[in-house]
Amino acid sequence: MDPQKLKGQVALVTGADSGIGKGVAIAIAQAGAKVLVNYVHNQKAAAEVVDEIKAAGGEAFAYQADVSKEDEVQAMFAKIIAAYGGIDILVNNAGLQKDAKFVDMTLDEWNTVISINLTGQFLCSREAAKMFIKRGVVDGVSRAAGKIICMSSVHEVIPWAGHVNYAASKGGISMFMKSIAQELAPNKIRVVGIAPGAIQTPINKAAWETPEALNKLLTLIPYNRIGQPEDIGKLAVFLASDDADYITGTTIFMDGGMTLYPGFADNG
Ligand code: NAD
Repeated sequence: MDPQKLKGQVALVTGADSGIGKGVAIAIAQAGAKVLVNYVHNQKAAAEVVDEIKAAGGEAFAYQADVSKEDEVQAMFAKIIAAYGGIDILVNNAGLQKDAKFVDMTLDEWNTVISINLTGQFLCSREAAKMFIKRGVVDGVSRAAGKIICMSSVHEVIPWAGHVNYAASKGGISMFMKSIAQELAPNKIRVVGIAPGAIQTPINKAAWETPEALNKLLTLIPYNRIGQPEDIGKLAVFLASDDADYITGTTIFMDGGMTLYPGFADNG
């Protein structure tokens, strides 16, 4: 396998200063692409990701923008287009949780999660798609005019009590991804989803930080280990590469079997 399968390409990864986004940014840089590390607040963490990529011989730059703000997303794309002519790969990764029981959930908790997890992917994908359509396929770079990867979750199919805003945002990502994949395929733009199970990052620290919590979590994972950002990084590289050129409009679940109804493993 060519380890530099994304050579000559430019990738924007949102929320790349932490967790899965960081793992994806590092993996994509190792595969030869220039990586634009988007962050919203933590400039220091973004700079550390950039430094780590550069130390390994890759190229990376940090870009600040809140993905839920139309003007900030448009300004970020304008800067990127001015600097590099555009991108080849967008990884819509930024996301968060604001958990509450349904009857206690505030409108602010609902709106914050929907506007970052769902509207953020709409805003970034729209700017990327406009750019991909205008530029078209660039010979020698990729068979596609552009690739969009939408970070979803097993909660695009597993209901999640106490997290209705999050589950609704990820269920929304499923149809968002498929609808734009259908619309953009004639433009040679591929759109795919990644649905991680439990990946060890700050978002779910409470679920793995003690042995008791981890053991409880593992009862939900038939493969009996928690996932790592590097697992998702490898999948993102494959999906962004021409090896996956015939894949569009589908979500790949990477979850150690979390969606296999583990409660039925002993006959229900
Ligand atoms: P994380 O908290 O480590 O990372 C989330 C990133 O999103 C951070 O860099 C954060 O700053 C960024 N972000 C938040 N709001 C933003 C905004 N308005 N604009 C730009 N960036 C913003 O968590 P993670 O686990 O790495 O999550 C990354 C993605 O993976 C999320 O979409 C999450 O829903 C998804 N996911 C995670 C898991 C898991 O088990 N960790 C499972 C399924 C899906």
